[in-house]
Amino acid sequence: MSFLLDCPNCGPRDVNEFSCAGEVTVRPKESPTLRELTSYIYFRRNVAGVQREWWYHRQGCEVWFQAERDTRTNEVLRTEIVEPSSRAGTPGPEAVATPDAPAV
Ligand SMILES: [Zn+2]
Repeated sequence: MSFLLDCPNCGPRDVNEFSCAGEVTVRPKESPTLRELTSYIYFRRNVAGVQREWWYHRQGCEVWFQAERDTRTNEVLRTEIVEPSSRAGTPGPEAVATPDAPAV
């Protein structure tokens, strides 16, 4: 399976140049309950449709960014580098789980 993914820095590239770190999640509050922590670690929405995901351009500019991708068709609707100040009204980067290390 192959499709094009639009890196915010490099432009359209083959998806095999990237690593996907899964859907964007929101970190639980500072002292989560066991249920909240378990849900955060193990459960994903896994939608059949448009999903917001973390991607890493491992064979290119090595930047982390988010993409909105339709999981049914692999159509990528939008990609963007997430800046802390551009997230007004949504959980800030301190609440959005950023992958700790590239999945290479
Ligand atoms: Zn790139």
